[in-house]
Amino acid sequence: MQELKHYFNEMGIETFWYKAQLKQKSIEQAKTNLISLNNIVSVCENCDLHKTRTNTVFGEGNESAKILFIGEAPGRDEDKQGKPFVGRAGKLLTEIISSINLTREDIYIANTVKCRPPNNRNPEEKEVEACSDYLEQQIDLIKPKVIVLLGKIAANRVLKIDQPIGELRKKIFIIKPKNIPTIIFYHPAYILRSPKEKKKVWEDLLFLKSVLKENDC
Ligand code: URA
Repeated sequence: MQELKHYFNEMGIETFWYKAQLKQKSIEQAKTNLISLNNIVSVCENCDLHKTRTNTVFGEGNESAKILFIGEAPGRDEDKQGKPFVGRAGKLLTEIISSINLTREDIYIANTVKCRPPNNRNPEEKEVEACSDYLEQQIDLIKPKVIVLLGKIAANRVLKIDQPIGELRKKIFIIKPKNIPTIIFYHPAYILRSPKEKKKVWEDLLFLKSVLKENDC
């Protein structure tokens, strides 16, 4: 870079070239940072979910987190507060990660769709598709080392497959082209409905720990 700068300087075009570079960089930064992306999402009308939402739920947490959790869709509490996983399932998620000494400040949490589907129905494929660019950009900006998909809907929508969650857990998926190791957990809302399955949460956590270790996290 220095050599190139010198070369351009010799030719008398250094200032122009350098300024153009700086301008391009700042445009890209402004375009791509999470705050401006959130601003874009907050007025999004890409699908019909915008008609019934109270707030968009962009995501929250450590913007350079090593672990990105991706849930399904905001529920009633999340829609009210504009924050992900703040209801009962969210409280359980906070407890679950604390058992491996992680706090909400260590991780980032987003959803496959940023608006609440009416009556908490599953988000439709076209709604996930309409929102997928935002999730892609969040992943590119946060650059997590590991992604955890919470539940069947997030897993099937992000991995673009249709398989029962039992067949997806404790496996590593590498999503192209980002090549980020991605694993699947039971959704905390499912654990609330089926407390007998709690021991599976521990298995999921042990698996996450091993994946983190493999990836030097
Ligand atoms: N369930 C989800 O999948 N996401 C939330 O934000 C809250 C509950």
